[in-house]
Amino acid sequence: MSQRIIPLHDERTSSPKLSLPGEAVQASGLLRDLHHRPLRDLRISVTDRCNFRCQYCMPKEVFDSQYKYLPHSDLLSFEEIARLSQLFVNHGVKKLRLTGGEPLLRKNIEVLIAQLAQIKTPDASPLDLTLTTNGSLLTKKAHALKQAGLNRITVSLDAMRDDVFKIMNDVDYPVEDVLKGIQSAQDVGLGRDALGHFSGLKINMVVKRGTNDQEILPMLRHFYGKGMSLRFIEYMDVGSTNGWQMQEVLPSHELIERVGKEFDLQALPSHSKGETAQRYGFKNQWGQIDPALGEIGVISSVTQAFCADCNRARLSTEGKLFLCLFANKGYDLKSLLRSNASDEDITSAIGHIWGLRDDRYSELRAEGQGPLLDQGQTVNVIKRVEMSYIGG
Ligand code: SAM
Ligand code: SF4
Ligand code: SF4
Repeated sequence: MSQRIIPLHDERTSSPKLSLPGEAVQASGLLRDLHHRPLRDLRISVTDRCNFRCQYCMPKEVFDSQYKYLPHSDLLSFEEIARLSQLFVNHGVKKLRLTGGEPLLRKNIEVLIAQLAQIKTPDASPLDLTLTTNGSLLTKKAHALKQAGLNRITVSLDAMRDDVFKIMNDVDYPVEDVLKGIQSAQDVGLGRDALGHFSGLKINMVVKRGTNDQEILPMLRHFYGKGMSLRFIEYMDVGSTNGWQMQEVLPSHELIERVGKEFDLQALPSHSKGETAQRYGFKNQWGQIDPALGEIGVISSVTQAFCADCNRARLSTEGKLFLCLFANKGYDLKSLLRSNASDEDITSAIGHIWGLRDDRYSELRAEGQGPLLDQGQTVNVIKRVEMSYIGG
């Protein structure tokens, strides 16, 4: 298969000027964007670096030894992340997800988790604090993460077969070591729920047709019965470097058809509005859904737009606020933080930015208003920031 890698156009430096709005917006929990969507989920990228070179995310040809990562002074400090997170929570955010790049590469990440675990929600409901990792440092870190107050964790794994996984991660990383990381997470109780199942331990598999789709069933056979959630993600056209093509996307409905031939599935209701995954449970021998068997989820980012309920914002490694995974501009909250702005000023700025949010990229694409998709062409019409920087 020929590779289509597109040189990186650095969009990290472009951000709309952020001036403090005249009329203050207070944190009422009632904040809505232009499509009446609340702000509930904040994804925070804590580093733009990674020890993997997944072709769909950080292809080697672009993220090579010449690539300029952000200097440490440009990253938000833990104190800055914690302060911003509290202000977002005051606005109604209920879920914080640390991501990257590889978040466990950020030194002393558990110190940040301990700070975030202290955040109070306005209605005293518990904050959902989670992290997405490639699992490579999990054996080393699982205990510290749990001690620091992490509730849940998502581990990415794209195949059971070593040769296929190595093609996906492109750094020769073996499956066995990720499985050891997952085991360590289980050993310390990360993601264990009140019933003793690991419903808060999720496994993410990005499916690329023709590269790892033959691994769907082996992955399911491995994780079936372990009480975890295995989620299949359609390969997305994020960023501008992965040479994405529609023909490499395996639509979720096709995946469910394939899985349904071997497993007895039943669709589950969503936990909350804005949930990205469509969930399915497994039936036991008595025909009942059994959580002990785990569940699967499909994330149909390409074939089924879910913008209508999208309540997610993203904070980039250097403190820019992005309102959509496919946005090409972020709002510079770091400069605001470092200009000695008060909490009220920053709260108001966040309120104004969200209040004017109009993003619905996937819907527009589905309506034929997005970039070219279906003609085997490389999508490079819009210069977008990379997922490793904006956070997945
Ligand atoms: N390094 C961590 C990891 O891989 O889990 C966290 C960051 S990664 C950007 C977050 C998630 O985004 C991973 O589950 C990854 O598989 C997914 N991802 C990255 N690029 C993607 C793409 N082009 N399409 C779909 N999912 C993608
Ligand atoms: Fe790294 Fe995660 Fe991107 Fe893979 S998906 S290159 S592990 S940041
Ligand atoms: Fe949300 Fe943008 Fe994805 Fe739509 S395309 S679901 S607005 S992140």
